[in-house]
Amino acid sequence: MILFFAAAIAAFLVLAYFGAPLLAWTIVGGALLAYLSDVAAFGAITSVVLAALFVIVAVVLNIRWLRRLSFTDHVLAVYRRILPDMSQTEKEAIDAGTVWWDADLFSGRPDWDKLLAVRAPRLSPEEQAFLDGPVEELCAMCDDWQITHELQDLPPHVWQYIKERGFLGMIIPRKYGGLGFSALAHSTVVMKLSTRSSAAAISVMVPNSLGPAELLLHYGTDAQKDYYLPRLAKGLEIPCFALTNPEAGSDAASIPDYAVVCKGTWQGKEVLGMRVTWDKRYITLGPVATLLGLAFRLYDPDHLLGDKEDLGITCALVPTSTPGVNIGRRHMPLNAVFQNGPNSGRDVFMPLEWIIGGRDYAGKGWMMLMGCLAAGRAISLPSSSVGGAKALARFTGAYARVRAQFKTPIGRLEGVEEALGRIAAHCYMMDATRIMTAGAVDMGEKPAVLSAIAKYHMTERARQAVNDAMDIHGGKGICLGPNNWIGRGYQMTPIAITVEGANILTRTLIIFGQGAIRAHPFVLREMRAAKEMAGSEASREFDDAFTSHIGHVIRNGVRSFIYGLTHGAFAPVPRRGSPELAHYYRNVSRLSAAFAFLADVSMLAMGGALKRKEKISGRLGDVLSMMYLVSATLKHYEDQRVHEDLPLVRWAVRDALYHAQQAIDQIVSNFPLKWMATMLRWTIFPLGTPWRPPLDSRNRECAQIVLEAGTARDRLTAGMYVPKGDDATGRLEQAFVAAIACEPIDEKLRKSVKKGRIQPPPGADVGLLAREKGLITADEYAQWQKKEALRRSVIKVDDFPQDFGRAELAEQATPPLVKAA
Ligand SMILES: Cc1cc2nc3c(=O)[nH]c(=O)nc-3n(C[C@H](O)[C@H](O)[C@H](O)COP(=O)(O)OP(=O)(O)OC[C@H]3O[C@@H](n4cnc5c(N)ncnc54)[C@H](O)[C@@H]3O)c2cc1C
Repeated sequence: MILFFAAAIAAFLVLAYFGAPLLAWTIVGGALLAYLSDVAAFGAITSVVLAALFVIVAVVLNIRWLRRLSFTDHVLAVYRRILPDMSQTEKEAIDAGTVWWDADLFSGRPDWDKLLAVRAPRLSPEEQAFLDGPVEELCAMCDDWQITHELQDLPPHVWQYIKERGFLGMIIPRKYGGLGFSALAHSTVVMKLSTRSSAAAISVMVPNSLGPAELLLHYGTDAQKDYYLPRLAKGLEIPCFALTNPEAGSDAASIPDYAVVCKGTWQGKEVLGMRVTWDKRYITLGPVATLLGLAFRLYDPDHLLGDKEDLGITCALVPTSTPGVNIGRRHMPLNAVFQNGPNSGRDVFMPLEWIIGGRDYAGKGWMMLMGCLAAGRAISLPSSSVGGAKALARFTGAYARVRAQFKTPIGRLEGVEEALGRIAAHCYMMDATRIMTAGAVDMGEKPAVLSAIAKYHMTERARQAVNDAMDIHGGKGICLGPNNWIGRGYQMTPIAITVEGANILTRTLIIFGQGAIRAHPFVLREMRAAKEMAGSEASREFDDAFTSHIGHVIRNGVRSFIYGLTHGAFAPVPRRGSPELAHYYRNVSRLSAAFAFLADVSMLAMGGALKRKEKISGRLGDVLSMMYLVSATLKHYEDQRVHEDLPLVRWAVRDALYHAQQAIDQIVSNFPLKWMATMLRWTIFPLGTPWRPPLDSRNRECAQIVLEAGTARDRLTAGMYVPKGDDATGRLEQAFVAAIACEPIDEKLRKSVKKGRIQPPPGADVGLLAREKGLITADEYAQWQKKEALRRSVIKVDDFPQDFGRAELAEQATPPLVKAA
């Protein structure tokens, strides 16, 4: 009998592990039953009854129409009853975009060979030339203190340069006069600008993200495209896109802004149009926009367009010179001075031709917005966050080497090193994610879930990096002024967190919520069969999806358990992957099986309520996200294969795996059904939790990369603007190089003092004393002096008159005649 149970368990594990078809289960089941009848010595009648029962069940399950009739059609009926109805806007949000690597992660068995076969995205020679030319020049033109404090705007010549050099038309095809850049190039431009001036970066980023140009390209009429796209490309129009209303921020589909279809006079003629009333806030570029992309709900109470009265959200392009458009006032988003402000209008009449796409697209605005959201979200904030992280890694590493306390560069003090190593490793992972996500867009994907993951995790990691960098800079980061290179970035961090889907909502509602439906191999098919199909078509589709779904759950549960028992020894790795990364691939494969199983069990246990259980769905989203970030990091390493970068990979991957494990642990601890929680824990972690946080030794190696001038540091911060001039960050770069070069001289001076060869009184020039005693050469003294001057300049913070210079400014602003009087 023991042998029978052992054979049954082994058969179950093997069949489930390999996802065997139903027929194989049936054959093995029959064989086991025969064996059982033999070893248990059932009587003839019992054996015949058992065999008959088995045959009936086997026939019902294996013959599809019988299975549908007796089983899955009943499940479908129940499913239809319990599945909540989806609103049109929810449906359009779910349907938007595409799935890519997220589907692999959701499947429980990611195909690593497929991922590694994807060519690493590359910039074309023209794109590289644009980065080396106009982008470099634009960066050099920007003085962040002048922009954020003195002018509170980009200077006119910078605006002019941005428009003339086509920065506002990167996504517009060349046939319309745009630059027609790849997503990677677009992302790299935004990233580089972000390392120098956030105002410049955002002013360039917004017209290239979700807004008039993107919407026109996808849905515009030929006349609209031919008129507006060349003007947008050349900067003759400054666009903005206004969706947010005081009453509708995150819940943007509920905007109360409205328009009523009516007849009116336009340019002397009576035309069919609409009277639009809106009240928008937070609109980026709004105060200087000439072309307002406007979202409102369109009503047709007089049936001038058709039967429907509530046509739905509609997007129109409104020249801001139109009478009745109130625009121009500014908000002050945490001292970030990119143009941002409210706009409004009451009963402003405009022709229907202003609807993007014309009348045919009246009421299709939400579908249009959702359809275009992914590409911009995959690029804008991930790229600007990576830019921020690269600048922080480079500047904070340099500062930590130049600034010394307790006679030691602060970067060598373990506490500082810990934060520094974290910045460096996060930066590597962020850049990897940026490149992989932009690459997906270039392959034609509109990655709905992956763009949300990139947006959330890049902005959160940037927040952590800037917090770490602020701690390392101490007072130097706090006192604002031209010599502070991180204070403004710190101030602005919550902006990236809030826009394009505020982060709490993105984490708890979108990443898993949308992923569970879109990226899951069967859920959407089941839902469509239940809600959008009828009769035998629905029955067949549901039967196929549902039975495959059951097999999927069993397979992932068993795989998760076996991987847990064997520490992932059998989990898939890519055929041509680097051997030093093999165990990470295995760990993600293990995590993927565990996640897929956990996701299905959670949906089974909580059903529709899971949507409201945001603490659980947020953590499920975290696990999915960590797998994506790790995949991107491994792919990035494989595409470059530079051994020197391994510490960054190791730290970042281990940290992400540990976080994923914590998320699973917390889901299980808070699972509503305790017996299920126990089953989950035994299945996923049969030998306990396997992943530990990154080692301190790895953290030190990561910190070392940004504390040393060299290729690893340059690769980590590749694509950023490296200041060459005499401004604060330019001097920091020079001081960093000088500090490293002078370390042997510093060492000589230290030893000389320690051994009493020189006894400098307080405030004395130690170098000069050493020079006079012949302990260092004249050249060494000159080199040391230069380094000291740079060091003092770097540690300097700004101070201002009592009134922060207001009186002086007022004086400058007073016309000479008034002064004379
Ligand atoms: C500087 C700046 C620039 C902007 N630019 C533009 C622009 O150009 N065009 C435009 O149309 N809009 C723009 N916005 C608006 C931006 O998209 C909104 O601020 C954003 O959608 C959040 O809305 P809210 O600020 O009203 O926050 P709220 O919607 O009030 O949300 C407050 C908090 O509640 C959370 N929350 C809300 N719902 C849920 C949920 N269901 N589950 C969990 N958490 C939830 C949010 O995550 C957030 O943390 C901009 C905003 C700012 C600040």
